Amino acid sequence: MNADYLIIGGGLSALVFGALMANIGKRVQVLEAHSYPGGFGHTFKMAKKYKFNAQLHYVWNCGEGEAVNQILKRLGLDEEVTFERYDPDGFDHMRMPGHSLDIPSDPGELERRLFHLFPSYKKQIRGFLTDLKLTSEGLGKPSSWIDPRALFRHSKALACVVKYHNSTLQNVFDKFMLPQEAQTLLALQWPDFLLPPEKLSFFAWVLLFTGYQRGAYYPTGHFEHVIESLVALIEARGGEVLLDHEVTHIKIEGKKVTEIQATDLKKKQTKLFQGSRVICNMDPKVAAAMIGEEHFSKSLHRKLDYDYSPSNFVAYCVVKDLDLRDYGFGKWNTFHSGHRDLNEAFSAMYERHDYSNPSFAITTPTLLTDKVRDCPEGHQVLQFLTVADYDYFKKLKASGKKSYNTRKAEILDAMLDVMEKYYIPNLREHLVYKITGTPTTNERYCWCPKGNSYGSNLTPENMGLGRLNHKTSLQNLYFCNASSGFAGFAGTFWTGATLYQKLSGERIL
Ligand SMILES: Cc1cc2nc3c(=O)[nH]c(=O)nc-3n(C[C@H](O)[C@H](O)[C@H](O)COP(=O)(O)OP(=O)(O)OC[C@H]3O[C@@H](n4cnc5c(N)ncnc54)[C@H](O)[C@@H]3O)c2cc1C
Repeated sequence: MNADYLIIGGGLSALVFGALMANIGKRVQVLEAHSYPGGFGHTFKMAKKYKFNAQLHYVWNCGEGEAVNQILKRLGLDEEVTFERYDPDGFDHMRMPGHSLDIPSDPGELERRLFHLFPSYKKQIRGFLTDLKLTSEGLGKPSSWIDPRALFRHSKALACVVKYHNSTLQNVFDKFMLPQEAQTLLALQWPDFLLPPEKLSFFAWVLLFTGYQRGAYYPTGHFEHVIESLVALIEARGGEVLLDHEVTHIKIEGKKVTEIQATDLKKKQTKLFQGSRVICNMDPKVAAAMIGEEHFSKSLHRKLDYDYSPSNFVAYCVVKDLDLRDYGFGKWNTFHSGHRDLNEAFSAMYERHDYSNPSFAITTPTLLTDKVRDCPEGHQVLQFLTVADYDYFKKLKASGKKSYNTRKAEILDAMLDVMEKYYIPNLREHLVYKITGTPTTNERYCWCPKGNSYGSNLTPENMGLGRLNHKTSLQNLYFCNASSGFAGFAGTFWTGATLYQKLSGERIL
């Protein structure tokens, strides 16, 4: 096939872009190195009966009229790919010994809950929540600022965006002098960024926190159904998604990509592909190195000079003959911290590799939709997620399988100890399956350099105006992934659709 759009990588932004292009009759060909499509969003099966999504837990911007819904409507998939809403009265359950807070959708209710927990800090809490609201409004309004009346109306929101453009979440906590426990309860969803408050961009936190407040969702058919629907649409319109095809070389003549070389990993054959335009969903830095950095302008070199987000440790578990709903789990996530201070919890695990008092996310996908099962009757899937240092695990793995496996088991054990102490006293008795993933697992199955979780690190430096976008220095090559747009399900839907709008001239968002 001589494709109109040859796409390197089959992650979410690539599949969204490819489906939109295939839908208007363009010939789309996707080359994906892994045996499953979806990148970080791929689903894999273990023991022939349990399905786990590699990384995705919950998503936002999926309500009626929101970006994901608009894109699905354009694809004619909005009735096929539907979502279940998390509990609006508490979509994230924040837990630390002696303190707990369920984050509600209603901002007024959040304020009431915080006032109740910290009655002597009402002024500080109100100040923080006011600037959270204004910043969120400001980040959502840039296009309307062109109108001077709107600019005036939104001047306070604009002022917040200017004021905090370089701030971390910790800077803003400190400005309002929130008590430590309130900071921890508000920021306990840190695994959604894999950064602690002292490093996390305030803007990234605001976008996600308020996005989930508008509505936290889980796909009715699990994430597998979303990915399968996008792939099926590409194929139904004559496109191809070639799995087990690893791109190894990108040939350039003048200022254009002329040929892509890929290895068919199953047949162990080298193949050549051509496309009028080439879309790069693989990591932009890796692609730039493959192409040769001399082909890129100085300004692009600067944009490509981002640091990667930290990697992670995930445990995929299955329990049997135990209903997690009897132990405080349901249509929400639970985030646990043993430490009062999340910056300390993060550095213990990430920098000192000390998991003796872990902070982690607990998710229960089986409880989020009852339309399609991810495991047999009587079983439920339970997942844990926390941060992990790539270099540490890389060295461990190189030193031998035994020490690598022992360390993985120790970390899971530390999490299970916490689970039995605070949540499910007899959990181990019901655990019928467990498998863990580390930074090297991410690298191996998601082809992400250093096992990074969200592409470029979500610090203020990387979230600023110098952020990489779709543009490359080559005429027919475009970046399209989390680092050149935005990370996350909603972020990568937006990234794929925005590039589609630019190249097709059609407006959806
Ligand atoms: C632990 C974790 C938890 C997360 N939880 C959530 C969540 O709850 N909600 C949410 O919204 N987001 C979550 N995310 C983020 C989200 O999963 C990602 O931001 C998003 O899926 C990235 O999509 P992408 O388009 O950038 O492509 P990627 O997923 O990075 O895919 C890139 C694709 O390119 C392929 N590729 C790379 N190199 C080559 C090559 N040489 N040849 C061929 N193919 C190649 C890879 O195999 C991969 O399939 C999570 C991420 C992590 C790591």
